Amino acid sequence: MSVRQMKLSEMQQMITEIYGERDKRRGVNRTFIHLVEEVGELARALRGGDSSEMSRELADTLAWLLSVSSLLGIDLETAFMSRYSNTCPKCKSNPCICPPV
Ligand SMILES: [Zn+2]
Repeated sequence: MSVRQMKLSEMQQMITEIYGERDKRRGVNRTFIHLVEEVGELARALRGGDSSEMSRELADTLAWLLSVSSLLGIDLETAFMSRYSNTCPKCKSNPCICPPV
């Protein structure tokens, strides 16, 4: 199976093309609720242990996260890379040396 590789910012643009208008009509708060529901579905998939189901729920979770990001006018790749630029944002080490949580 050949799957096209994309940068996260390209994925965000693609999701905005597909769902942007619907997301705008729904608004940030209700779109965020969908993201949280999707995380719940991911939790069930993790408990269930089915790898293809986990893959699907991870992808859906990212899609909703990208929708929320777009509605907030935030490019998630830029946000991620400015926070996680090759080190842990708390201890500034790679690998992280923070105390276990
Ligand atoms: Zn750390």
